[in-house]
Amino acid sequence: LADKLQNAFDKLKGKGKLSEKDVKTALREVKLALLEADVNFKVVKKFVKKIEERAVGHEVLDSLTPAQQVIKVVNEELTDLMGGSQSKIAFASNPPTVIMMAGLQGAGKTTTVGKLAKLLKKQGKNPLLVAGDIYRPAAIKQLQVLGERVDQPVFSMGDKQDPVDIAKAAISNAESNGHDVVIIDTAGRLHIDEELMDELKNVKKAVKPHEILLVVDSMTGQDAVNVAQSFDEALGIDGVVLTKLDGDARGGAALSISSVTGKAIKFGGFGEKLDDLKPFHPDRMASRILGMGDVLTLIEKAEEQFDAKKAKELEEKLRKQEFTFEDFLDQMNQVRNMGPLDELLGMIPGVGKQLKGLKMDEGELDKIEAIINSMTIDERRHPEIINGSRRRRIADGSGTTVQDINRLLKQFKQTRKMMKQMGDMTKGLGGGGLKG
Ligand code: GDP
Ligand code: MG
Repeated sequence: LADKLQNAFDKLKGKGKLSEKDVKTALREVKLALLEADVNFKVVKKFVKKIEERAVGHEVLDSLTPAQQVIKVVNEELTDLMGGSQSKIAFASNPPTVIMMAGLQGAGKTTTVGKLAKLLKKQGKNPLLVAGDIYRPAAIKQLQVLGERVDQPVFSMGDKQDPVDIAKAAISNAESNGHDVVIIDTAGRLHIDEELMDELKNVKKAVKPHEILLVVDSMTGQDAVNVAQSFDEALGIDGVVLTKLDGDARGGAALSISSVTGKAIKFGGFGEKLDDLKPFHPDRMASRILGMGDVLTLIEKAEEQFDAKKAKELEEKLRKQEFTFEDFLDQMNQVRNMGPLDELLGMIPGVGKQLKGLKMDEGELDKIEAIINSMTIDERRHPEIINGSRRRRIADGSGTTVQDINRLLKQFKQTRKMMKQMGDMTKGLGGGGLKG
């Protein structure tokens, strides 16, 4: 999509003034690009019309930099489409805040309960997880395992009680045990059916949740939009969690869902791990879709610095997922010559915040170098073999602590992921990757 839109905008570049025809031509391509991204056609129609109203006429035509103006308008409207500024959970003034999950089977509800508990715990909350799916055989166990990993209790009454009774009992339990948030997992179905909706409606009536979060699988594209619409009409939802964004290259669902339901996407699921739930930033998503993030600047900077051959090798490695600590060290030194690291990371839309832990100062970089130097070649190439005793040895060898080693391993994993994302992104932009 980024590619397509970029093309459309490229056509607008370098023209002193925009005629109405220019705007129309560009918008026709924007329209095609959005449709290709699997955005709901009604949404596209509405969107394009809105842009046209804003763009054609004085706003664009009077502007000194018309192309930029159109891009700005499109970006703003895309952001608006996805719910405007990032919205958060509305916490109850009188705790516990009750959050109820809803959604089809396999959308990611149970996983999201665990992830959300972890996220809220980091914010100082003390959530109680509630096993409200009594149909899927392994659902209770699945939640219990997640609860253990987050280290927060899971309230369960087995699979013989009514979900309404379970939810009510859970809230009493939360009140007496000082839990300020209750997150209720619920059952799903493969398709929307009345029985499911009735059950959810009954739970809603009984516990009056502060937030009903609809969990939808972004990879289901247009279906996700229909699902969201049905749930909103039947149950009433307060927000959306869009899961599996790590596997969705098109972004159509994200664009359509909030427009169709009028409800904001509050969180995005970017992977299967507990840390992979992030607050959803519509503006970042819009920039990413437009391919306007400073990714291009980053790539340019990188191209200046990277030896072309090395970059090509690196690209190969990324594709094969062979990024090692040797490369990490190599990269680190190259990046060191490129400029302040946090500034560089900030240029990648959507990952700036994700990589907050990566902020390092020079002393930190020296430490990392020392740690990597204390690794065996085998450990550098296959970091997954670095177990407890190896960590101890590396820490001793480099004059650091096991915590330092753990942090570096975590950073390495994040970097590996980021490098992969960059590899994907540069491919998507049609530049053929980090070629010199
Ligand atoms: P539920 O039936 O709605 O409770 O769905 P689950 O929570 O059991 O999730 C179904 C599957 O989707 C599991 O294998 C999850 O690991 C996976 N999943 C959930 N969220 C994400 C996500 O954001 N990204 C990816 N890649 N997988 C996810
Ligand atoms: Mg489940």
